[in-house]
Amino acid sequence: MQDRYDVVVIGSGLAGLTAANRLARSGHRVLLAEQHSQLGGLATYFRRRHHLFDVALHGFPIGMQKSLRKYWGQAFADRVVQVQRIVFDNPQFHVETTFDMEDFTRILEAQFRIPRATVNAFFACLKAMNYYDDQRETVRELFERFFPGRPDVWRLLLEPITYANGSTLDEPAISYGIVFGNFMSKGVYTFLGGTDTMLEMMAAELRAGQVDCETCCRVERILVEAGRVVGVVANGRSVACRAVVSNGNLLGTIHDLVGDAHFAAEFLAGVGQVRLSNSSCQVYIGIRPGAQLPAIGDLLFTSTCPVFDADALCARQVTSRTFSVYYPTIRPGTDQYTIVASMNARHQDWVGLERTAYRAAKEDLIEDTLTALDRYVPEVRRLVDYTEAATPITFARYTLHPGGAAFGTKFEGLRPSMTLSAQVGGLFHTGSVGIIMSGWLGTVNYGVMVANDADKYLGG
Ligand SMILES: Cc1cc2nc3c(=O)[nH]c(=O)nc-3n(C[C@H](O)[C@H](O)[C@H](O)COP(=O)(O)OP(=O)(O)OC[C@H]3O[C@@H](n4cnc5c(N)ncnc54)[C@H](O)[C@@H]3O)c2cc1C
Repeated sequence: MQDRYDVVVIGSGLAGLTAANRLARSGHRVLLAEQHSQLGGLATYFRRRHHLFDVALHGFPIGMQKSLRKYWGQAFADRVVQVQRIVFDNPQFHVETTFDMEDFTRILEAQFRIPRATVNAFFACLKAMNYYDDQRETVRELFERFFPGRPDVWRLLLEPITYANGSTLDEPAISYGIVFGNFMSKGVYTFLGGTDTMLEMMAAELRAGQVDCETCCRVERILVEAGRVVGVVANGRSVACRAVVSNGNLLGTIHDLVGDAHFAAEFLAGVGQVRLSNSSCQVYIGIRPGAQLPAIGDLLFTSTCPVFDADALCARQVTSRTFSVYYPTIRPGTDQYTIVASMNARHQDWVGLERTAYRAAKEDLIEDTLTALDRYVPEVRRLVDYTEAATPITFARYTLHPGGAAFGTKFEGLRPSMTLSAQVGGLFHTGSVGIIMSGWLGTVNYGVMVANDADKYLGG
């Protein structure tokens, strides 16, 4: 780490990585400071024995292929492959789909008996949505408009997006519609080779662009003088810079890294309204070498809850889980099968538990997950040789997001995030925010947008 840079990027989530790459390619001297020992933020992976687990690689829209090509290179785009088989199984319906508009139109018409004209009108409405629209209509009102009295249809349309970004029926319709519309354009995609391959490729690009990547490097303060960024304190050491792009949590950036004294009261009042997204639990399941899993689908949305219920989706008493099944084809040349079960969760349900109760709760989570999986893979316990659980406490520790927020902040976080530099010269925020800018595609694109703003500020 040197004493002076043009810009310090705090955090190496997908937005931070992409912003650092863009800024370096525009000719700036960049420090990328990551507090964890590994790059990637939530888009990460870990090894246990012979197993390699992906944490947040379950699926992204096709737009990611274009973004990877434009901002990281053709070799990245070439690895984007379609997730073939997506299965929903709950008390209201069983559906198998490629999760694109054509297939959903077929399913809505044939299985749910919705007139073709209504389906077409709904998709046309989604297509026309953009950020500058009227933001008052909620998801609930949107569904009432097109599918009144059809909670089964609401569930089909919303439940996967609730997993993907924490949307509920009471969120602005556009935050749901833009994300769902992105998936509907061509289905769900993944990265061939897994998160480890992608991060290795990104690290190589950053090295080639001469970004200083420092892991185990926690930024404790952003230094501001006369209304402008002048540096950071990282691991107790002052580093001068003219701009900061923070990929850390929006609220943590404002309150902890900069300090309220540097912001206008009106701005802080807006920040006071910003809600964090929910957190997650996950159970990682490693399959014994030599054992094979039956083809149960790539993404399996399962629930025993009678209807869609955003509160129940987050409850500690789990009724709904997504199983992501990683067949050996995701990492060609290996014979590994792993399964990652993801559940939405609330930090407050986990934070008060003392050590023994916390451990027991994690064990219960694992056991309940295996029992739920047994319905799809009979006698699954005989195939499993490794399990581990992550909770909101785990996510908070590895990312520093308050409450282990899995998708940053809710919709109202977008405005403060986008207007930070009007408060403090040279201060920018990027990363999961406002639902629209979260997920792999949202954060990569937001990383580029903010890097362009920082470049302009730096006189690029
Ligand atoms: C369980 C789960 C599953 C998901 N599945 C999918 C999926 O299938 N598809 C999809 O598109 N999205 C998925 N997501 C969402 C997606 O992974 C995230 O939206 C995205 O990766 C977040 O990127 P980000 O740029 O906001 O940064 P984050 O990943 O939040 O990373 C922020 C980084 O900043 C670092 N940091 C914070 N403060 C400091 C500091 N002071 N100093 C130094 N470093 C700091 C953190 O350590 C972290 O590395 C999932 C999320 C979760 C939790």
